[in-house]
Amino acid sequence: MKELFRVVVAGVDVPIYRATAKEIPELKNDDGEDLHGCFIPAKAMICITQGQPKTVERDTINHELIHAWIYLSGAQSVLRMLLKKPDDLVDAEETLVAVLTPHIAGIEWCK
Ligand SMILES: [Zn+2]
Repeated sequence: MKELFRVVVAGVDVPIYRATAKEIPELKNDDGEDLHGCFIPAKAMICITQGQPKTVERDTINHELIHAWIYLSGAQSVLRMLLKKPDDLVDAEETLVAVLTPHIAGIEWCK
C-alpha cells in the first residue's frame, strides 16, 4: 500500500492510497467484485486499486473525493433525511457522485 498524496476535504486531512484488495478488503463490493476505489468513512481515507491506467486512476480519485466530500461535509446526512426510503441512500449518492464527477474532474491538476 502506497500513499500517493493527501487532500483536505471539508477540513479533514484525507490520505489517498494505491492498494490491493488483499490489503484493503473494502476494495471489493459485497458481491466480491473488484472496485476501482473506495472512501472509508471510519478512517477518512481513500484507497484506489493499483494497476489502473493513469487517466482511470484520476477519475477514480475524483469520484472517491466526491464521496468523501459528501460524507465529511454532512451532505450525506441531509441526503438521507430527504429520501423517503433509507435504503435508497447508496443509489442516490452514487447518482449524485456520477453527475458531479466530470465537473469536479474539470479542475486542472498540476501533475
Ligand atoms: Zn461511488
